Amino acid sequence: MSRRPTVFLFDIDGTLVSTGGAGRKAIERAFVEHTGTADVLNFSFAGMTDPAIVRLGLTNAQKPTHAEAIAQVLESYLLALAEEVAQTPSFVIHPAVIETINQLATWAHCAIGLGTGNIKNGARVKLNRASLFERFHFGGFGCDSEDRAELIATGAQRGAARLGVSLVECRVVVIGDTPKDVAAARAIGAQSLAVATGPYSSADLAACGATWAVESLAAAGVVEMLLGEWPETGT
Ligand SMILES: [Mg+2]
Repeated sequence: MSRRPTVFLFDIDGTLVSTGGAGRKAIERAFVEHTGTADVLNFSFAGMTDPAIVRLGLTNAQKPTHAEAIAQVLESYLLALAEEVAQTPSFVIHPAVIETINQLATWAHCAIGLGTGNIKNGARVKLNRASLFERFHFGGFGCDSEDRAELIATGAQRGAARLGVSLVECRVVVIGDTPKDVAAARAIGAQSLAVATGPYSSADLAACGATWAVESLAAAGVVEMLLGEWPETGT
């Protein structure tokens, strides 16, 4: 049976791994360095892109938010992130992540990439701790766009290019843990497999229109969902 070419775009935080707060600590350190305070970051980062987090923090601090200002904070963030990720005691790889990637890697006509709000070098730091970064050959990142739907679209285009087909010929499946992942998938006409390994329940994620919402990648039916052979449950 030949399957439709498929592009998989995996979110990182709350989906593949959780860094035990290392990402937040690193952004807080960058803000202390650049604005003197991290109190301006009193909002949830879930599903936000790195540049959007920095922009909102700088806005709260009543500081300039031009591209260069955001880039400077992100440069400090990356230096802090390497230290925080190396020393965090509670880094986890979520259930069945490795097994799922191993399984996808055996399928023909599929491209396994990232769809993440992390800037690419931050994604590398987080996933390298789990020896996972090299498993993903392309992606859409927070450095491609501050807007999640746009970076997901970029990742989908890169995946189609790897498969040597046009994007309209592909299924695209976004795997993520927040309503923002689901919304970005919907914005580009992609399917979404939402996992409750981040801050949201599977009921929350189903309610915002995920194609499928499960407790984790270890749930029954996940392989069939990724194959597109499981009934769609989203609205
Ligand atoms: Mg996430």
